[in-house]
Amino acid sequence: MAKRDYYDVLGVGKGASADEIKKGYRKKAKEFHPDRNADNPDAESKFKEANEAYEILKDAEKKAAYDQYGHAAFEHGMGGGGAGRGHPGGDFSSAFSDVFDDLFGDFMGGGGRGGGRQRATRGSDLRYNLRVTLEEAYSGMQKTIQVPTSVSCGECNGTGAEGGAEPVTCPTCSGMGKVRAQQGFFTVERACPTCSGTGQIIKNPCRSCGGVGRVEKDRSLAVNIPAGVETGTRIRLAGEGEAGLRGGPTGDLYIFIEVSKHKIFERESTNLFCRVPVSMTAAALGGDIEVPTIDGGRSRVKIPSGSQSGRQMRLRSKGMPALRGGGQGDMFIELAVETPVNLTSRQKELLKEFDELSEDNSPESSSFFKSVKGFWDSMKS
Ligand SMILES: [Zn+2]
Ligand SMILES: [Zn+2]
Repeated sequence: MAKRDYYDVLGVGKGASADEIKKGYRKKAKEFHPDRNADNPDAESKFKEANEAYEILKDAEKKAAYDQYGHAAFEHGMGGGGAGRGHPGGDFSSAFSDVFDDLFGDFMGGGGRGGGRQRATRGSDLRYNLRVTLEEAYSGMQKTIQVPTSVSCGECNGTGAEGGAEPVTCPTCSGMGKVRAQQGFFTVERACPTCSGTGQIIKNPCRSCGGVGRVEKDRSLAVNIPAGVETGTRIRLAGEGEAGLRGGPTGDLYIFIEVSKHKIFERESTNLFCRVPVSMTAAALGGDIEVPTIDGGRSRVKIPSGSQSGRQMRLRSKGMPALRGGGQGDMFIELAVETPVNLTSRQKELLKEFDELSEDNSPESSSFFKSVKGFWDSMKS
């Protein structure tokens, strides 16, 4: 079958810009992605075709070669190396990481993206849930985490072959990955049973990884948590995920942040809220109080005389830092006036005296009582 023109495959014109090529590819990749086309057998080959076209056209050098010579430019194996991994479209995982992050929301732990084929496969993305305190979210910090992951096998350097030997060409299919068999009048072609279609075999599988090329291991990893993270913040560590299969690229590690609830502060975006108890006398007479701040310090706050419970006051720039720069939130305190308990007889005496002196402060003179009284009177009439 003659190969289709790469520009046609991506649905763009010959003079398409890099951006248009990328857009065209996204559209086709989305349309033909195997995950979305479970019952369309054509989709996979269309998908591969689009990947192949994009691999060439996204690369300025390859694109120039293609523009000049057409498909002939790549007939002897892409990139001139020719050994095994040559043919275009075979390894499209790099194209994936370019554009697929924003195409598919949920791609965690989805296994290698090569889709189960036997060749080099990209390692899985890993998710790590990290709980931090509000203080840590405020200041940012470096945390060392233990990530259970599979890493490239050290014994065989990830090749899967004992002693790190390179895989050899499959003798059954001579590296074609397919075998032909005569069935009556027909010649049928099927995947080579010896190499499962990869065209290569490992003569002596590595004993330490069983020929897979990677082993399970806990890795410790120092992670920089920037100041201002919130629950739900995602930090991507490119290339820190699971090792690829048979020399494929490594997946990414995503750190999902969860900020623990704080004893004193409640957070809303970059603002902090805190209830502060004040004595009845401080609320009535006014005065200075000290309130805790998230940086571990204290701030003096002036309480105006006659402050009621529930009064809110703002402390500018004492909140959380914004994650991507751009200033600091505020801290809001809410006064909670405390009624004194366990009074001494002297205190009781003084309060009684105070009560006698403050006719105007009696419940009957409060604005609330007046409106209630008005309500009662209206019910009577
Ligand atoms: Zn074979
Ligand atoms: Zn090994």
